[in-house]
Amino acid sequence: MKAISILGSTGSIGQNTLKVVEHLGNIRVVAMAAGRNMAVFAEQIARFKPEMVSCDDEACAQSLEKELHRLKAAKPAIELNSKGLINVATHPEAECVVSATVGAVGFVPTLRAIEAGKRIALANKETLVMAGELMTAAAEKYGAEILPVDSEHNAIHQCLRGERRSEVKRLILTASGGPFRTKTREEIEDATVEQALAHPNWKMGEKITIDSATLMNKGLEVIEARWLFGFDADQISVIVHPQSVVHSMVEMVDGSVIAQMGVTDMKHAIQYALTYPDRQPNCLPPLDLRNLANLTFEEPDLERFPCLRLAHDALRKGGTMPAVLNAANEIAVQAFLDKKIGLGRIAEINRSVMDEHESSNADSFEEILAADSWARERAIIKLNETAAGNVKHYNAGQPVSL
Ligand code: MG
Repeated sequence: MKAISILGSTGSIGQNTLKVVEHLGNIRVVAMAAGRNMAVFAEQIARFKPEMVSCDDEACAQSLEKELHRLKAAKPAIELNSKGLINVATHPEAECVVSATVGAVGFVPTLRAIEAGKRIALANKETLVMAGELMTAAAEKYGAEILPVDSEHNAIHQCLRGERRSEVKRLILTASGGPFRTKTREEIEDATVEQALAHPNWKMGEKITIDSATLMNKGLEVIEARWLFGFDADQISVIVHPQSVVHSMVEMVDGSVIAQMGVTDMKHAIQYALTYPDRQPNCLPPLDLRNLANLTFEEPDLERFPCLRLAHDALRKGGTMPAVLNAANEIAVQAFLDKKIGLGRIAEINRSVMDEHESSNADSFEEILAADSWARERAIIKLNETAAGNVKHYNAGQPVSL
């Protein structure tokens, strides 16, 4: 029986991972970490009986103990905050770590799991956006395999199976286009939180749903693809495909385009990452081709969705610039979710923090973490210059130090 640990078990990917575990029936969850949702966490612990768990702080641990007592569940070892996350990520029995925390907080725990040589089922794209070069070098050094759970990258991973890298012309990431695909620039800039959270195809956490509305998510995915698959920025393109049936494609040098299709459910990619190189029946309905009367594809509009352009710029600049964009964006998205700024301000804040940053080589994880902190501070200063009322000092999602 395979043993896994999960970082971020109460989030959307974490909950779906547990459904896959339940379906497969031959996987043991030895350790789990969650942030603050202790009611859901307690139920997960009662059901999956991990040996070790971790949550944000002492207050969370106390409410977790209460919930476990109420459920008459056995109490595992309870660890706290960043140290706890790292201990879950490096649990000696876990062969595979599902890295599914939101934002930069998963960075160091994922690195530690890589250094321990574990398979990483990677949903936390920030890890590769911030430090793709160093992370993939570490994975090679320690023999850790990174399996993408992000649906687009999971699709590309499948399309590349058995292909020679030298025969690949380009990777084509599909984007649903989000809820504002057909809206004007003004409508997008003035959109409410509720409108931005209404994603047409995918059910996901709040941060990634807002990133999908601005197409920042696709931008971050371009950077993620750069490091996961080792192709240059100009070999990675994006096409808007509103039906989200084709999860991504690879174009070969002979003009063949290989696409991966499936139902829009993250359990598909999660199971692939857990069982690879095997394939097993999953718990999802089959893709009914008869219902696919029309699949459409269109060019993304960089004027209406400037965040996508910013990501391309950050990738071309390289060094610490992608980490800076990622950090500024996390702050700006949180401020939008808290209704301190409009949706259009997210790209402006990202752009102005990038403009101020002198990108350095990103030769060490310390340098990347320093650029991350710097960008968060600058983004908060910029928010306070213009936002209605003072913006609190956001630090949710900030990576733990090395
Ligand atoms: Mg994705």
